[in-house]
Amino acid sequence: MAYKNYPNVTILDHPLLKHKITKLRDKTTKTNEFKMLVKEISILEGYEALRHLETHLVEIETPIEKSMQPLVNRKSLCFVPILRAGLGMEDGLLELVPGCTCGHIGLYRDEVTKEPVEYYCKLPADISEKDVYLIDPMLATGGSAIDAVKMLKKHGAKKISFICIIAAPEGIEAFCKANPDIPLIVGALDRCLNENAYICPGLGDCGDRTFGTTNGTTEDRHII
Ligand code: URA
Repeated sequence: MAYKNYPNVTILDHPLLKHKITKLRDKTTKTNEFKMLVKEISILEGYEALRHLETHLVEIETPIEKSMQPLVNRKSLCFVPILRAGLGMEDGLLELVPGCTCGHIGLYRDEVTKEPVEYYCKLPADISEKDVYLIDPMLATGGSAIDAVKMLKKHGAKKISFICIIAAPEGIEAFCKANPDIPLIVGALDRCLNENAYICPGLGDCGDRTFGTTNGTTEDRHII
């Protein structure tokens, strides 16, 4: 499903995805199930997001005859979760493409300047040759995703896509204005942000709920 006049945005609408995102949102969903759901949702989203992957032909032999058949070149791919909530999605995408290279980006918001600060960045040296999938479950203001894209570009990434589970309209607008050329794959589009920049109805703090650090309703959220 398209979003407004942004051709780069795809809002997914598979019933199984909707079902799992509903369970993810539920505040009674405990850490273990939450983590499992993030993984399953990432597999479903990844299946859609990776549909344009290039394949190359290899010769194999079936029990019947020799044949040229397509394989994905996993070396041409790279997943980059934004720490820390993106790590839950990485698990799911690696189920789809085992052994795929992963980079990691860590950002936090400086409490005084409110500017995002990079505290960790490890990317493959040949990132410029890879199809990079940036992953973060929540696209709220769009600030961390926009900064992560800047970091990827600074390190030479040329082909970037972004996958999230839940997006706020504010985040989509900001991301698309900054990056109209980057495909954005969204599991569910929510209503708005609240005064604390949480997505409504959302699911609370995804990092906390994935790693069991709070009940998901904390207002004390510094890591973006
Ligand atoms: N990050 C989260 O984990 N949840 C939100 O609602 C917004 C940003």
